[in-house]
This record gives sequence, structure tokens and C-alpha cells, in this order.
Amino acid sequence: MAVIDFLRKINLTGWIFIGIICGILTGWLVGEPALVVAEPLGDMFIRLLRMIIIPLITASLISGISSIGSGEGLGRLGGKTFIYYMSTSIMAITVGMIIMNVVSPGYGIHLDLGAVPETFKETTSVWQSVYSLIQSMVPTNLVAAIADGDILPLIFFCILFGIFITRLPEKGRVLFTDIFSSFFEIMMKITHLVIMVAPIGIFGLITKVVATTGFDALVPLLKYFFCILGGLVFHAFITLPLLLRLVGRVSPVRHVKAMTPALLTAFSTASSGATLPLTMECVEKRAGVSNKVTSFVLPMGATINMDGTALYEAAAVLFIAQTYGIHLDIVQQLIVVITALAASVATAAIPKASLATIPMIMAAIGVPFEGIAIIQVFDRILDMCRTTVNVFSDSCGAVVIAKTEGETPLAG
Ligand code: ASP
Repeated sequence: MAVIDFLRKINLTGWIFIGIICGILTGWLVGEPALVVAEPLGDMFIRLLRMIIIPLITASLISGISSIGSGEGLGRLGGKTFIYYMSTSIMAITVGMIIMNVVSPGYGIHLDLGAVPETFKETTSVWQSVYSLIQSMVPTNLVAAIADGDILPLIFFCILFGIFITRLPEKGRVLFTDIFSSFFEIMMKITHLVIMVAPIGIFGLITKVVATTGFDALVPLLKYFFCILGGLVFHAFITLPLLLRLVGRVSPVRHVKAMTPALLTAFSTASSGATLPLTMECVEKRAGVSNKVTSFVLPMGATINMDGTALYEAAAVLFIAQTYGIHLDIVQQLIVVITALAASVATAAIPKASLATIPMIMAAIGVPFEGIAIIQVFDRILDMCRTTVNVFSDSCGAVVIAKTEGETPLAG
């Protein structure tokens, strides 16, 4: 009885750790014979992840964009907020990718996990690639493109679809917004279910890594960990404070002080959704942003603005590609930027949610999904850090937008 009670108290993160430890032990002690069980478990998990990619992108992008609203004021505020959020996420992604390209922590690890060349989409000359990139965003047959697993055309179409929902007459707009927000809620529930079985899948994948590769992969992982951490620190301590100072005209130190309760909650819960009430409280009561801006900008931020997640996901995919010895050219890196942006919008504001959206980026450039397992080793701590950056960026967004609306946050 006591044992069952104890097991019940272990949360998802605890189970994922157990999965990783059991995977390491099984792979090490049992070796290749363990693959009979480990491989189907890992494979099933990856199938589940693949299964949710297309509906998740569709639901999250359309519901996110259509919820920007169409009323004059709301439309203007929504547009501004959207542009601000997307720009900071792109800045974060760029920092992460520069660090990964310069340090290249993944080269030198050789994971024997599966076929790369068949899935990896080689490109030819740069101009030809840029042209085919633009071309591939506009499919002649959307359904065929989706069936082929092409992510970019789907993103392009969903953005258009979401924008034009906001242009519909009231009746249709409300109807479509409701349908897609319910669709998104359903997808969140399915995603949650997939994340719940993650410990078993990760056990299978880690067992396979250790049984076939040994421990070689674990040491360079530390380098990967510090690269991501460095990127997050850069974004939180340089990029965002600069925006606060130059655009928001407020003191970054005072803003951080005002936001401390929310930032600590984000760090300890690893969920920007769970932190949202506190974020709103701190931004409104302690940073002095109006309720009008707070109540619009922050819920939207918690849903679509995840700078830390965007940085993490892009950098993680680059790392995984490097472990396969894949060199991504400039166009492929551009695809990573676009899809990481979309993936961060699609990521739920809950712990570990990136696990479900990283495959979108991998699918777009054809990096094998199996690589996801190794990055799980440091995922919890990085989740805590990236969530803190996500919340901090939302709060900076509220201050900057408030300033452009004529308010004076943190005055006095
Ligand atoms: N845990 C993150 C958040 O809630 C999402 C993620 O990157 O997994 O913001």
C-alpha cells in the first residue's frame, strides 16, 4: 500500500527521470538484446508524436491568429503585440542558432540511431534553394503537401486562414474562432496524453542509445546544456533588457524586481500557463501597466510568445542534426527559424510541452526523430530556465506595448 501511495506521488518529471535512469541501466546491463522491447516502445512514442504534428500546427496557428480579434482597438493592439512577440522570438532563435553553429557541441557524438540520408532533405545551390523554399511554402495541392509531411505550406496556409477569419462578418468570425479554439483545446488534451506516456517512450529510446552507442553521448551533452543555458542568459540579460530600456524606457533592474514573484514561480513550475495569474498580478500591480493592456497582452503572450522555448527548440534541433553529422546550409537553417517560430507558437504553456513540438522542426528538415531521446537528459532544468525566459519576455512585451499606447509603466 505504502509503495503504491509513494508511486502515486511521483509526478511526470519524476517518471521521466526514472525512464531515463532505467533506460541507461537497461542499455548498459542488458545491451543489444534489450532492443526487442526498447525499440517498439520508442517507436510507438515517436509515432504518437508524429501523429499530432499536423493537427496541432493547424489548431494552434489558426486559433492563435484568429484570436487577435478584429475590433479597431483590439486589432491595432493585437497587431502590435503579435509583431513584438514574433520579433523577440526570432531574436531568441537567432541567438540560439549562432551559439550552436559556433560551438557545434553535437559534432563528434555518433549516434547509431537510424537512417539519416533518406530522410534528410539535401539542397543544391543557395539561390535554387531559396527559390524552392518560397515555392514550397505555396503548394499547388495543400492536401498532397500535408500528406507528404510538408510543414511549411501548412504554416503558410494556416496563417492566411487565421488572418481571414478575423476579416469575416461577426457571426462567421465568432463561429470560426470558437471552432478553432475548441479544436486547439482538444489538441492540447491529446498532446497532454502523449506527454503522459513520454516516460515509457523515453525509456525505450534511451535504452537504444546506450545499448548501441554506449555512454559516448552523455559527456558532449553537457556542452549542449551550457550552450542552451548561455543562449537563454543572453536573451534574458541582454536582448530583453535592451528592449525594455530603449523601447519601453524603463529600468530593466526595476522591472525584474517587480516581476520576481512571477519569475520564481515560472522557474519552479516550468509552466507559463500556471504562472499566468501571477504574471498578470505583477505586471499590473507592481509594474504599473493598465488592465486593458495586461489582460490582452499577457494571455496572448502565454499562448503564442515563448522566446525561451523557441531558442531551445531551434538549438536542440541543430544539436541533434550535428550528432548525425548533418551540416545544415543557410536555407535549411532558415527553415529551422521559420518552423521553430511556428513550433513555439504551437507549444502549450505547460511543463515539457516542447517535447511535442520539436518534431515539427525535425520533420521540416528531415532530421530523424530518435534524436529527441538524448536531449531529455537535461530537459527538466532547461524547461525551468526557458519557462522563466518565456514569462519574462511576456512581461517585457506588456511594458513595451503599454509604452506605445501612451502609458508610463514603472513610473515614480
Ligand atoms: N514549459 C514551457 C512553458 O510553459 C513550454 C516548453 O517549452 O516546454 O512555457
